[in-house]
Amino acid sequence: MARRKPNQAFDIAVVGGGPSGRIAALTLAREDFKTVLVAPNPVGMDGRTTALWQKSIALLEKVGVWAPLESKTTPLRKMRMIDDTNRLVRSPEVVFDSNELGIECFGFNILNNDLNLVLEELCRRQDNLTIVEESVQAAHFGSDLVELQTTDGQSVKARLVVAADGRNSLIRETARIDVRRWAYPQEAVVLNLEHTLPHRDISTEFHTPTGPFTLVPLPGRKSSLVCVETAEGARRLLAMEDEDLALELERRAHSVLGKFKLATKPQSFPLAGLTATRFSANRLVLIGEAAHVFPPIGAQGLNLTLRDIMDLERILIMAKAKHQDPGAKTVLETYEAKRTSDIHSRTRAVDALNRSLLTDFLPVQVARSAGMYFAGKIGPFRRLLMREGMAPGSLFRLNR
Ligand SMILES: Cc1cc2nc3c(=O)[nH]c(=O)nc-3n(C[C@H](O)[C@H](O)[C@H](O)COP(=O)(O)OP(=O)(O)OC[C@H]3O[C@@H](n4cnc5c(N)ncnc54)[C@H](O)[C@@H]3O)c2cc1C
Repeated sequence: MARRKPNQAFDIAVVGGGPSGRIAALTLAREDFKTVLVAPNPVGMDGRTTALWQKSIALLEKVGVWAPLESKTTPLRKMRMIDDTNRLVRSPEVVFDSNELGIECFGFNILNNDLNLVLEELCRRQDNLTIVEESVQAAHFGSDLVELQTTDGQSVKARLVVAADGRNSLIRETARIDVRRWAYPQEAVVLNLEHTLPHRDISTEFHTPTGPFTLVPLPGRKSSLVCVETAEGARRLLAMEDEDLALELERRAHSVLGKFKLATKPQSFPLAGLTATRFSANRLVLIGEAAHVFPPIGAQGLNLTLRDIMDLERILIMAKAKHQDPGAKTVLETYEAKRTSDIHSRTRAVDALNRSLLTDFLPVQVARSAGMYFAGKIGPFRRLLMREGMAPGSLFRLNR
């Protein structure tokens, strides 16, 4: 970690110490940008897990996060989708197998605590990276520099600000970037489970009338669960005694993994969405949940953020090669143009999948079932869906 000199102006200030902010700060500091991470001290444990696809793992590998993490993660070799809607039109079961794409696995499931601890340690040790362990309370966007004021009265100056300060981003608001917000009539009940049968590195997703019920492998005979329910249904699950809840979840999983025992306490997250109307402004870019939020369905949120970071890194390296200021207008315009379609198309896809489960409208049920049927029967279509699920653009190369 670099020492901070008074009045020093940084190339880049990253605001927010969640996974988005820390991975961005590491990535940019390693590219020799004088970087400051303004993030309050990390608090508490996060028992959730995050599934990251191969392209994201490649970024973690490049910035040194993967080596200390790999042994604690679980590969996702197959993904099984089961229609459990009990509706008139039901889809056949579909299994997506990473072997079909010539790769060993689609990605890995990682405990958020493990990821966060590795990120914090690496940020502390990274050259070119200064950490200011405070929140930002005000930002002034000038023509040459941005000045951030922290809660303890420090002033931090930088030529570009990367806002990674989450869904209620103060930086985004200060820059007067509007957002579109929406809510779903659902909550995600999240917990980790021990089970008596092996998961064989297979993730299983039941499509139920209230949303997906997804079991994702963890090391040993453990899995993480994201159970999307109505608000009322979520409240009922959260009120249950541990043993009753384990039995109820096992029933919903049709005992595919044998008997369940809770490994963590359940938490619930209301399902909501947010998209910023722009992803850049004067000397500012938005990444992560400051730019886009959608329900935890299909493991897309942080994967999308890592693509924000990869695009930003490439654009900044090109600007540097041309001796351009990192906050130059062309940098901001290129970032805006690069990120817009990926963010909008992912948001629409997750929204459509979720809504297609909730609706009783027959034509939508038929379309969803037909999609699953063709995915099961037609190899090239199935492979296209697998690639698209991991990253946009069916020509995406899977070699790491
Ligand atoms: C149940 C659940 C399961 C999920 N599963 C997956 C998955 O499997 N795969 C996937 O890709 N994604 C998944 N996601 C999405 C993923 O968790 C999020 O995309 C990710 O956590 C967002 O990280 P972030 O850093 O953008 O935001 P946050 O984690 O919210 O971090 C924002 C940070 O900014 C800080 N901050 C706020 N204001 C200020 C300020 N003024 N000054 C300084 N700092 C500030 C906060 O303290 C916080 O540390 C899941 C989400 C949920 C809810």
